[in-house]
Amino acid sequence: MKQHLKPVYSDIGILESCNLKCKMCKMYEIPSLKNNQLIPLKRWELFFKDLKEIAGEGFVFNIPGGEPLLHPNIFDIIKIAKKNKLKPLLSTNASLITNNIADKLIKSGLFAVTISLDSSLEKTHDFIRGKVGTYKKVLRAIRLLSFYRKLYNVQFDIGIQAVIQEVIEEEEDEEEKENEDTMTRDERRAKARLVNRK
Ligand code: SF4
Repeated sequence: MKQHLKPVYSDIGILESCNLKCKMCKMYEIPSLKNNQLIPLKRWELFFKDLKEIAGEGFVFNIPGGEPLLHPNIFDIIKIAKKNKLKPLLSTNASLITNNIADKLIKSGLFAVTISLDSSLEKTHDFIRGKVGTYKKVLRAIRLLSFYRKLYNVQFDIGIQAVIQEVIEEEEDEEEKENEDTMTRDERRAKARLVNRK
């Protein structure tokens, strides 16, 4: 008997703008969409209906960006996907996940989020993501999502994805060198003492 293969996953960015300035990406240079440039929700309804027919229920619809939480209709899009029995998944840099957003995400119909976390070191993550404070926001987002997942007792996966770059250490070294160039003699001595103790 002839077997028909069905797609199981798609990755369709819903906007290209972003609030971070990552070393490996220029999406932050793309201006935000104006309201009249957004795909109307009625079109999303038709799209998800067709997708369900082609791919079947349970199809994983990943929503990346730019940063998808900047999209003014993000929660409606998730809701329509869910209504059509697809499995919506959000890929986010997590910097916009406040208490209120975490609560809404858990209740939205998503089955999971994947969050970008490039290092266990705050300095390295913030360096790659181009904005100080991003690492702390990621940890806050994970804590909040875990809290609401437990509160509402829902099945919700929190995944982590990382970008590995060869350039990181070289750039960090350069940054450190620049810092060293501006150090006073006393600061250099203090640093040398610390290094010798390691
Ligand atoms: S968070 Fe993602 S979309 Fe935004 S600048 Fe970084 S890599 Fe690009």
